[in-house]
Amino acid sequence: MHTHTRRAFLGALGASLCLPAQSLPSEVDVVVVGAGSAGLHAAHRLRQLGMRIAVLEARGRIGGRAYTNSDTFGVPLDYGCAWLHKADDNPYTPLAREWGYTLQEHDASLEGLYLRGQLTSPEVRQRATRVEQDLSKRLEKLGERRDVAAATAIRRRNELDDVVATFHGPMSSAVDLDELSARDYLNLGTDVPPNLLIKEGYGSLVARFGNQIPVSLSTAVRQIRYDGQGVQVETNQGTLRAKVCIVTSSTGVLAAEKIRFHPPLPAWKQDAIAGLPMGLLAKIPLQFSQPEFRYRAFEDVLLENPGKRDIYFLCWPFQLNLLVGFVGGDFAWELSAAGEQEAVDFARNSLRRMWGSDADKYFVKGDFTKWASDPWALGAYAAATPGNATAREGLRRPLADRVFFAGEACAPRWTQTCGGAALSGVETAEQVAKVLA
Ligand SMILES: Cc1cc2nc3c(=O)[nH]c(=O)nc-3n(C[C@H](O)[C@H](O)[C@H](O)COP(=O)(O)OP(=O)(O)OC[C@H]3O[C@@H](n4cnc5c(N)ncnc54)[C@H](O)[C@@H]3O)c2cc1C
Repeated sequence: MHTHTRRAFLGALGASLCLPAQSLPSEVDVVVVGAGSAGLHAAHRLRQLGMRIAVLEARGRIGGRAYTNSDTFGVPLDYGCAWLHKADDNPYTPLAREWGYTLQEHDASLEGLYLRGQLTSPEVRQRATRVEQDLSKRLEKLGERRDVAAATAIRRRNELDDVVATFHGPMSSAVDLDELSARDYLNLGTDVPPNLLIKEGYGSLVARFGNQIPVSLSTAVRQIRYDGQGVQVETNQGTLRAKVCIVTSSTGVLAAEKIRFHPPLPAWKQDAIAGLPMGLLAKIPLQFSQPEFRYRAFEDVLLENPGKRDIYFLCWPFQLNLLVGFVGGDFAWELSAAGEQEAVDFARNSLRRMWGSDADKYFVKGDFTKWASDPWALGAYAAATPGNATAREGLRRPLADRVFFAGEACAPRWTQTCGGAALSGVETAEQVAKVLA
C-alpha cells in the first residue's frame, strides 16, 4: 500500500492522487474511514492491539480538520484546530513536548473589547469578564437541570450580554446559543484551559502523529454494507471486506449522505445525526508587512458589530505578521455563502472601524477558511440542538456490533475538539478489539 507521504509528495507535484484499486488490501480486520485525529488514533491503537487494518481517506492528505497551511502566507498557520485545549490532559500535549513543538499558553479574552467601534474602558472590560463568568455559571446550572436552548441563560440587560453571548457561543461552540442545547454545553471541550497555541501548527502535530500509519489517500468511501457477515466497504478505488469498520466522518458528511449504508441507517441513528448538526467557525487571516502595530503578539481584539456580526482577532500569534480574524455561528455561514472577497472585506472594514486608516497601512493580503463548503467536513464541529443532548450517545452506538462511529462529535469528553476526537478514536478501537476478541 502507498503511504500518505508518497502521495502527498505526488500531490505537491500535481500528480493524480488516484490510488490503484489493487493496492487496497481486499480483506482486513478493521477498516477505518477517515484519517483525521479520531481515525489516526483509532488506527494507532488497533495496530498496537495487533489488528490488520486499512485506513481510507477521501482527501489527498491526512489530518482532516486539523490542517496547518504553510503555503498561503509562507508560515505555518492553522486553518482548522489551533488551540490545544485541556492541555494538562490532552493526548497531544506529551507528543508536542516530546517532539519539541513551540507552545504558548493563550486563553481568548475580552481584553481588547470594542463597542460601537471604540475601545472600551478597563472598567467596562472587567465588567464584560464578569458577565462572561456569570454566563458560564448560568449555562452550567441550566444544563444540569434542563435540555433547553443555551440562550435561555442570557440575561439581555445591555449590549455586554449580547457581545458575551457571541463570544461564548459562535466564537467558541461555533453555534448561536439559541441553537445549542444547554445540557450539551456541559460536554464541550472548546476553551477548557489550559489552552496552548502551537507555533508549528496543531495540524502539523496531528500529521506527524499520523506519519507512522499507512493511509490510502484519495480513497472516498461511498457505501458500507453490513447486511451479511462483517462489512463490505465500497470506495472509488475498489471494495474491501472487513470484520468491522469505524466511521469517523463529521456529522455534516453523514447528514449529507456521502456514505450510503446498506441496510439504511435505523431511525435512531438518523435522529442522532440530525440532532448534532455542524456549527461553523471561520478564520479570516490578514497579512501585514509589519507585525505588532497597535497590539502586541497574542493580544485579543473583539469588535462588536450590529446584528451579531462580531469578529474576534488573535493578534500577531508568535510575532507573525498576521491578524487572525474569527467569525462563528449563523454569521459565519452567511459570510461563507458570500465568499472569500466579502469575508476579507468584512474583516478589513472591521479593522477600519476600530483603527481608521491605520488598518490599511501595512496590509498585504487576506484569506478565508472554507470548511462550510469543504465536502469532507461541511462545517467546523457539531453541537447538539436544544432537546437533543442525548444525540451523542446515539451517534456513538454501533450498528450490529459491526459499524462503529468515532470522532469529535462522539468524544467521551471534550467534544468538538481535536483532543476529544483522539480519545474517541482510542476508546472506539478498544471497544472494537473487545468485540472481535
Ligand atoms: C476552523 C476550526 C477551528 C477549530 N479550532 C479548534 C481548536 O482550536 N482546538 C481544538 O481542539 N479543535 C478545534 N477545532 C475542531 C477540531 O479540528 C476537530 O474537532 C477535529 O479535528 C475533528 O477530528 P475528527 O477526526 O473527528 O474529524 P475529521 O478531522 O473531520 O476527520 C475525518 C476524516 O474523514 C475523512 N472522510 C470523511 N468522509 C469520508 C469518506 N466517505 N471516505 C473517506 N474519508 C472520509 C475526512 O476527509 C477527514 O480527513 C476546529 C475546527 C475548525 C474547522
